[in-house]
Amino acid sequence: MHWNFDHSYARLPGQFFARVDPVPVASPQMVLLNRALVEDLGLDPDGLRQPEAAWMLSGNEREPSSQPIAQAYAGHQFGHFAMLGDGRAHLLGEHLTPDGRRVDVQLKGSGPTPFSRRGDGRAALGPMLREYLISEAMHGLGIPTTRSLAVVATGERVFREQALPGAVLSRIASSHIRVGTFEYASALDSGLDLVVHAPLGVDDPLVDTKAQDAGALTRALADYTIRRHYPELAEGPDRYADFFDAVMERQASLIAHWMRVGFVHGVMNTDNMTLSGETIDYGPCAFMDQYDPATVFSSIDRQGRYAFANQARIAHWNLARLVEALLPLLHHQPESALARAQEGIERFPALFTERWQRTMRAKLGLDNEEPDDAELITSLLKWMQDRGADYTNTFRDLSSHGAIADPAALGAQFRDAEFAAWHARWRERLGRQPGGVDEAVPRMRATNPALIPRNHRVEEALQAAVQQGDLDPAMRLLEVLGNPYDAGLDESEYRQPPNPEQRVYQTFCGT
Ligand code: AMP
Ligand code: MG
Repeated sequence: MHWNFDHSYARLPGQFFARVDPVPVASPQMVLLNRALVEDLGLDPDGLRQPEAAWMLSGNEREPSSQPIAQAYAGHQFGHFAMLGDGRAHLLGEHLTPDGRRVDVQLKGSGPTPFSRRGDGRAALGPMLREYLISEAMHGLGIPTTRSLAVVATGERVFREQALPGAVLSRIASSHIRVGTFEYASALDSGLDLVVHAPLGVDDPLVDTKAQDAGALTRALADYTIRRHYPELAEGPDRYADFFDAVMERQASLIAHWMRVGFVHGVMNTDNMTLSGETIDYGPCAFMDQYDPATVFSSIDRQGRYAFANQARIAHWNLARLVEALLPLLHHQPESALARAQEGIERFPALFTERWQRTMRAKLGLDNEEPDDAELITSLLKWMQDRGADYTNTFRDLSSHGAIADPAALGAQFRDAEFAAWHARWRERLGRQPGGVDEAVPRMRATNPALIPRNHRVEEALQAAVQQGDLDPAMRLLEVLGNPYDAGLDESEYRQPPNPEQRVYQTFCGT
């Protein structure tokens, strides 16, 4: 396949990973293979002939240059600290692409590791197809994300309240370094004795959790992460503080993107937040249909901690955990370190608001800034919430010359006095910007997608695949989601919001 593996992560201190091989499965069968990604990574499409590709991408056959490891990390889950680690994933190595990128190639669902705790190390087909669909849709929407290379069915059953077909997902990421990886390093540095539960059949915990010199592991991880994701900061005198600021910037932009398309991640635990700024770990995530800032889909998020409108606050909270871990690197005097950390983290709300307002202005076709813009944005959102308007379609419907010129050109749902008053203000505001309406329309059409992976369509595709072995609905969905801003999709049936019977209220991790 022309893999070109390097293993820089495995050159970190041994506490950061355990060497462990995937466990072969009964009968690997390719279910979905991402040909565009194969090409993008400079892999050989001919090398992906069956059944060899399915063997390699299930972990049954070891690519000679791979050196599988499971990564160690901790994290706050719903606010509580826990030792975690790859409990069902194997990093095969970092593929170096012909155009000079370094990407992690990880199998997920490929068997137990020393971090499996009570889990079986496996994954069910439905959730792996779901991650494939949604991550590729996010990529199509222009949002930083891990990618999905393939889903291979294992021919084995996994047990999750019922017997389900098993699968292995191959995931491509610019890295899998998480906020939780830093929490793990920091905990070991402070002498915390983290208990790593070994799976049945493994006697010795493979990870030595002895206390370290002050900050040594955190420093090793930070130096590595800076070199890998922020190389321009590597030589600076304040590089760790600069690094934290840069991570905040990427997270602020990422969450603004999520808000742009109505994405609810669902499990924004610190182990599910990357240092690269890519969206990771698609569990009970979903896209909002009707606009409601309190939208929660995840069945396990009973408090609404990770509700749509709460995501920036949670990113802020998670980043506070990161900066705590970085404290010993910020200054040798604890008070100075704390002051620098506080100064950094306190900037996040303003940083996010700036990104969010810029995003929302673009959704309304606006380029320059006026003091009343925030009010213009929130009054449209309020109107949408009161009417239960569809988030995606409302913005897309507004994205045309006709809709800007005359609100009567819009559908019946727009015909009320409140909207008419808002529309008049919006049109005047568009007229006051230098490019006027002419530049607003292409800006809106590039910011407001025609399509998102609507939950009822995703569920329909997953059901057909898992229950009937019919992949056509999933393939069709993937195809249209590859170009979600395309003008040809304005009349697409995939724009239809769910009718009441189709509406999805809850999503499940299915882990
Ligand atoms: P997640 O909620 O997907 O971010 O997973 C949280 C933690 O649980 C991670 O450490 C996973 O590796 C682990 N995990 C999830 N499912 C399993 C499983 N079936 N077997 C072992 N570990 C698992
Ligand atoms: Mg996770």
